[in-house]
Amino acid sequence: MSNRETLEFQAEARQLLQLMVHSIYSNKDIFLRELISNASDALDKLRIASMVDKELAVDASDLHIELEVDPGTRTLTVRDNGIGMSRDEVVELIGTIAKSGTAELLRKLREANDGAASQELIGQFGVGFYATFMVADRVTLTTRRAGETTGTRWESTGEGTYDIEQVADAPQGTAVTLHLKPADPEDHLYDYTAEWKIREIVKRYSDFIAWPIRMTVERPGEPREGGEPGEPVREVQTLNSMKALWARPRDEVDDAEYHEFYKHVSHDWTDPLEIIHMRAEGTFEYEALLFLPAHAPFDLFSREGRRGVQLYVKRVFIMEDCEALTPNYLRFVKGVVDAHDLSLNISREILQQDRQIRAVRRRLVRKVLSTVREMREKQPERYRTFWTEFGKAFKEGLLEDADNRDTILDLISVASTHDPEQPTTLRGYVERMKDGQTDIFYLTGETRAGVENSPHLEAFRAKGYEVLLLTDPVDEVWVEQVGQFDGKPLRSVAKGQIDLDTEDEKKAAESEHQDRQREFESLLTWLGERLADDVKEVRLSTRLTTSPACVVGDAEDITPTLEKLYRAMGH
Ligand code: ADP
Ligand code: MG
Repeated sequence: MSNRETLEFQAEARQLLQLMVHSIYSNKDIFLRELISNASDALDKLRIASMVDKELAVDASDLHIELEVDPGTRTLTVRDNGIGMSRDEVVELIGTIAKSGTAELLRKLREANDGAASQELIGQFGVGFYATFMVADRVTLTTRRAGETTGTRWESTGEGTYDIEQVADAPQGTAVTLHLKPADPEDHLYDYTAEWKIREIVKRYSDFIAWPIRMTVERPGEPREGGEPGEPVREVQTLNSMKALWARPRDEVDDAEYHEFYKHVSHDWTDPLEIIHMRAEGTFEYEALLFLPAHAPFDLFSREGRRGVQLYVKRVFIMEDCEALTPNYLRFVKGVVDAHDLSLNISREILQQDRQIRAVRRRLVRKVLSTVREMREKQPERYRTFWTEFGKAFKEGLLEDADNRDTILDLISVASTHDPEQPTTLRGYVERMKDGQTDIFYLTGETRAGVENSPHLEAFRAKGYEVLLLTDPVDEVWVEQVGQFDGKPLRSVAKGQIDLDTEDEKKAAESEHQDRQREFESLLTWLGERLADDVKEVRLSTRLTTSPACVVGDAEDITPTLEKLYRAMGH
């Protein structure tokens, strides 16, 4: 078959590859972790496909990953007999990057143009398959999709284009062959044809992988009589222990193992912020191993973003992104739940309805919330990272999760006039409330600078009242819906008349105000007529100290930000 075509990588993919080819990433060993992780995913998918479609012509009897090195040709091959890819899938999955946030990442990388910052960004993004171009100057991928008859060969040097052709004789699954760059330990490039190096990498990064990772190795034969060394023996060895991490007791798993497992399930390259390992015994048994990542994924706020944890049943992978197990506002939580008493054929729809799954979910949510609380109490630094990365999504819980609303309210951080550098908790605000103060004051707006310079704050500043500064779009909605904290009403300083004075002050101010009102009568009437189309009323203000005028909403009016939000939504 001669059907070789040369195609161009998508622009973003090209740029990312460029970075890999001239790699700045010092831990190049992880390319193997990425390939093994992909192979493992492909095996999971094949197992599920063969269960769902009994007619599918596949061989699912000996699913495994195979590593093959050839020091002579300086190649390393990672082979799996998993789901494989069709030609279109190869073009789509390998030739393009569908990950949202790619463009943004590349922009940041261009801006960063310093090694450490770029490393960090690449790490956060995770470049997956493209990591192979850190260690190889040519990569060949041969694959056949389970159930299809022809295969596809893909080849590239990572320099802008790739070749793709049909092949007749490809086995089911995928084989990736790396034509290795010369070893250069100075540049963190090792000899990846050396058996010890491969063993070391697999042990470090992929030991928990649930499928066997095999390699044919040569070991010295039994010594012959007389002490002569025997013929070397070639034998197939399994390099990983395949132990499910979540099934092992916590004190037997070290952090490095947890971290590598996290990277496998999350496709993240950085260590997690927090590890949650739990086990439930009783009528419905399960184990859960969850992680709070250290940074938000680029697609945290995109609809297509991945969400949810993986579901296993008795050590067997069932599904990725199981939405039924975590609420939307905790969509950044990664990990695994292994339930013992579920059917292997369970569907997403049934899961949503399942009473026991709902109970698991309730418990996981409570555990995540208590972990966040503990973090705030014992590791404020970590809590701050958590808050910066996920606070915005987390606050959605105030609207979504009525059962835990009070707990969530207690865990949020909010910018405040008290300390411009440090956000406060609502509890902190309440503790600082002035004698006689009954309400929690807040101001919403679009930007921090905007709210800080708002004339609405003047009177509150002058009188020494603290005001919360809320600038996320979701803030506008939750303050309205939640309404109070600890029995104290949440009150917008931009709405209605707010009384900040004592009784005596009030009397004095009232008579002064009346004098002034008379004095400015004609100006107010004139302004009222001129602005009749835009405002309901013009009145003399007691709340401003330096600004000449400000616009105030009625207590029942919607706020300007919300008004904009509604307008944008087409109301
Ligand atoms: P990620 O694994 O984070 O999705 P990768 O760059 O590692 O990103 O892989 C891109 C996609 O290519 C995978 O999502 C998968 O669909 C496909 N793929 C990669 N390797 C294999 C493989 N060995 N078998 C089948 N599909 C694969
Ligand atoms: Mg991958």
